[in-house]
Amino acid sequence: MKNAQLKKRQDRFARGIARSSEMVLAELEDCPDRPRNLDYFIRTMRDVFVEDQWDKRLKQGDEEKKIIGTYCMMVPEELIYAAGAIPVRLSGGSYEASCVGDEQVPRDTCPVVKASLGSASLNSPSPYEMCDVVIVPTTCDAKRKMGEELSRFNEVWMLEVPHIKESEASRRQWLQQIYGLKKSLEKYTGRKFFGKKISRKALDASIKMIGFAQYQARRLYEIRKSKKPVIFGREATLAINAYCYDTVPEWTKAMAELNDELEERSKNGPFVCREHTPRILLAGCPTAFPNWKIPSLIEEMGAVLVTDESCLGDRYLYDPVGITESSMRDMMTGIAARYLMPCVCPSFAPNEDRLFRLLQMAEDFSVDGIIYHVLKGCVIYDFELFRVEKIMKEKNIPVLRIETDYNPEDIEQLRTRIEAFIEMLASKKKKTKEL
Ligand code: SF4
Ligand code: SF4
Repeated sequence: MKNAQLKKRQDRFARGIARSSEMVLAELEDCPDRPRNLDYFIRTMRDVFVEDQWDKRLKQGDEEKKIIGTYCMMVPEELIYAAGAIPVRLSGGSYEASCVGDEQVPRDTCPVVKASLGSASLNSPSPYEMCDVVIVPTTCDAKRKMGEELSRFNEVWMLEVPHIKESEASRRQWLQQIYGLKKSLEKYTGRKFFGKKISRKALDASIKMIGFAQYQARRLYEIRKSKKPVIFGREATLAINAYCYDTVPEWTKAMAELNDELEERSKNGPFVCREHTPRILLAGCPTAFPNWKIPSLIEEMGAVLVTDESCLGDRYLYDPVGITESSMRDMMTGIAARYLMPCVCPSFAPNEDRLFRLLQMAEDFSVDGIIYHVLKGCVIYDFELFRVEKIMKEKNIPVLRIETDYNPEDIEQLRTRIEAFIEMLASKKKKTKEL
C-alpha cells in the first residue's frame, strides 16, 4: 500500500476505534449513580482509545523508556518493570481492528487474534505503535501462529508455555523460560538501567509495586461479594482493564480511592440494584475493551455482573508472587510459580483447577447464573463448557452459553437470549425466597 493510502486507512481506522470506544465510555458516564472515583478509569481509557494521549501519560517525560507489548497475562510484568521498561498489555478488543485482521488470518480465527493483528498491521491505536518489542506466550494455537505473523510488524519474543502444569519437567522448562526472558530484557534495556542487569533490588521493588496493585484489586474483588452491590460489573471490569494503560502507582492510587468510596457506599448506599437482582458470573473468553457488548447487555437486562474469570478482569491481578527471602533465585522461582500454577487458562490440560475456582467463585459471590462467553473460533474455552455445565448442574446453577465475536450485528439476538435467561433466574430466585 502506498504511503498516502496507508495514512488514509490508518486515520479512518483510528476514527472508527475512537467512535466505538467513546460510545462505551459515554454510556458509562451516563449512569448517574456511578462511583465518583470511576472517572479516573474512564479518563484513562479515553486517553488511549479516543484522544490518543497514551504515550504522554505512560512515559511521563522519560522518552528513553522502552515499551514492551504483552499479548497474554502469562508474561511476568515484574521483570519488565525491573528492567526499567514499561509493559503494555495489547488485548485486541476492537471490532474495527478485527475487520482489518480478518484479511490476514483464516476465517475461523478468534476475534482476539484478528484484532491484535489488525492493530499491529496498521500501528494503531498508539499502544501498538509505541511498542519496541512484543512478547507472545504460546498458550493456544491461535496465539502461537499470531506470534509468527506479528513478526512482520514487530520484533517478537515467543515465550514457551507448557501445557501440563503438574509435571516437574514443565515447571523446570517454565522456570528456564522466565530466566531466558530476564536475559533478553537485560540485553535489550540493560545499557540504560542499573548497569547491565536486572538487580535484586529492582526486582524486589517491582514485585512490591505490583503487589500493592494486587492488594487493591483484591479489595475491589471482596467489595463485589456484598449482598447489596455498590458497583456495576461493567464499571469494575473497566477499572481493571485500565491497569493495562497506566503506570502501576497511578492506577493503584486511583483504585484505592475507588475502593474507599465503595466501602463507604457499602454502609449507607447508594446501591446499584436491589437485593433480589439476579447475580451473574461471566465465564469464558476475556472481555477486552472496547468490546463491552456482553457486560453491558447483562446489566441492561436487569442483572448485575458480580464477578468474572477473565484474565483482563478478576483474574488479572488476583494472585501475588510468593517470596520468602528476596534472593534473586527465590524471586525468580516465585515469579515462575505465580504465572504458571494458579493460571486456569484452558490451554492447560488437565485443568481441574478452573472448575474448583469457578465453584468457589459461584459460592463466594452468591451467583444465581453463569453466562459462558465463547468468542467464535475459540475452541479451548468451548471445550471446557461441558465440564462447567456439569458441575454447575450439581449446584443447581444455570449456565447460558453465548457465542459471538466483536461484530455489533448480533446484539439484538443476544439481548433476547440474555433477557430470557435473566428473567428465568429472577423468577427462580423469587420462588426460592417464597419457599
Ligand atoms: S485466556 Fe489464556 S491465552 Fe488468553 S490471555 Fe488469558 S491466559 Fe493468555
Ligand atoms: S484463548 Fe481463545 S480467545 Fe484467547 S487467543 Fe486463544 S483462541 Fe483466541
